[in-house]
Amino acid sequence: MSDEQYAFPTRAIRAGQEFDPTTGAVVPPIYMTSTFVQDGIGGFRGGYEYARGGNPTRDSLQTLLASLEGGSHAYSFASGLAAEDTLLRAVLHPGDHIIMGNDVYGGTHRLVSRVFVPWGVSISTVDMSDLDAVRHAIRPDATHVLWVETPSNPLMKISDIAALAEIGHAAGALVVVDNTFASPYLQRPLELGADVVVHSTTKYLGGHSDVLGGALIVDNPELAEKIGFLQFGVGAVSSPMDAWLTVRGIKTLAVRLDRHSSNAQTIAEALVGHPKLDAVYYPGLPEHPGHELAARQMKAFGGMISVAVSGGAAKAKAFAEGTELFQLAESLGGVESLIGYPAEMTHASVKGTALEVPDNVVRLSVGIEDAADLTADVLGALDRL
Ligand SMILES: *Cc1c(COP(=O)(O)O)cnc(C)c1O
Repeated sequence: MSDEQYAFPTRAIRAGQEFDPTTGAVVPPIYMTSTFVQDGIGGFRGGYEYARGGNPTRDSLQTLLASLEGGSHAYSFASGLAAEDTLLRAVLHPGDHIIMGNDVYGGTHRLVSRVFVPWGVSISTVDMSDLDAVRHAIRPDATHVLWVETPSNPLMKISDIAALAEIGHAAGALVVVDNTFASPYLQRPLELGADVVVHSTTKYLGGHSDVLGGALIVDNPELAEKIGFLQFGVGAVSSPMDAWLTVRGIKTLAVRLDRHSSNAQTIAEALVGHPKLDAVYYPGLPEHPGHELAARQMKAFGGMISVAVSGGAAKAKAFAEGTELFQLAESLGGVESLIGYPAEMTHASVKGTALEVPDNVVRLSVGIEDAADLTADVLGALDRL
C-alpha cells in the first residue's frame, strides 16, 4: 500500500501488515526465529540472515512506524532508552555538546549525564519553550544535538518544534524530538522540520502496558545507515514477540488517543480552580501558556495532566495514594489510568539537579475508561485530603 493514498488511522492498521502469502493469515505471523536457512552460502530468502540484523516481525513494526511518522526509515529497540543510546552513539563524539529541556524525561537526562558525559560529551539544560534561552545555550561548532520533548514531562510545557528546528539547523545541530507523549497521531515532528523522532513505544504506541520498546524514525538515508549499523552492531533490538505486541497496540492508536484526549480534557476542566490545587497543567486548557502553540502543532492535547497540590509534599503524596481507578504506578500511555508522584517515582533520578520536580506535583496518565468514573475518582481523592 502506498503511504500517500491512505489516512493515518488506515495506515495504523495496514502499513507493513501484508497477509501471510503461504496461508492467507490476515495477521502476519510472529517469526520466532533467531536465524534463517540459506539456499547455498549467501543465498538469503528475503534478505534475512540472522535476527539481530533483521527479522520479518521487527520489519513489519519498523515499516509501520516509518509510515506513521512520515519517515524513510524506522528502527525498533528493546526499550526507549536503548533507542536513545543507539542514536547518541551514532551522532555524538567526545567534545560534542548537547542541549536538552530542563524538564526532559529523567532517564534521558541520566543516560546523558551518567553515560555520555563521562565519555566526554557536555550537556546544557534549558527551558525549551524559551527560544532565546535555547539560542543563548548554543555553543558554535560544539553543539551537535538539540533534544526536544513536547509536551514535556511532568509540567506539560509546549515547545515550538518548527522554530527549534530552524535554530538547531542554523547552528549545524541535529534536532531530535522525543514524541512519546504525543504519539504520531497527535504530532509529527519530521513534518515540522525535526531530523529524528524518538519513541518509548512502551507508552502510547504499545498502549496496553504490556511491552517495553523504543524506536527511532528518520527521513535521511545517511543518518539511517549510521543508526541501522548500530542497531545491528550493538544489538539492542526488539524481540519478535515485543515487536508483534507493539504492532497490535498501534492498530488502535487513533481511537485510543481520541478518547485519552477527550477524557483528559474533561478531567482537566473539572480540576481547574479546585480549592485543593494550586495549578493544573494541561495544554488543552485555554489558560495554559502553550495552548495556542499546541493547538497549531498537535491534533489534540493528549492524555497527560499534572497538578500542583496545595499544602505541599504530604498532601500531594496522599492524593497520589488516594485514588482507586487511577492506580499508583510509573509509566503512562496505557488504556488504564495511572497516577504518579514524579519527585520520588519517574523523576527520582534528577533529584538534587536543576531538573528536580516540585514536591507537590502529581501526574495523571488518563486512560480510556469512562470519563465520569475517572472524574469522580479524582475529585473524590481530592475531597478526602
Ligand atoms: C518512558 C520514556 C522514555 C524511556 O523509555 P523506556 O521504554 O522506559 O526505556 C523516554 N522518553 C519519555 C518521554 C518517556 O516517557
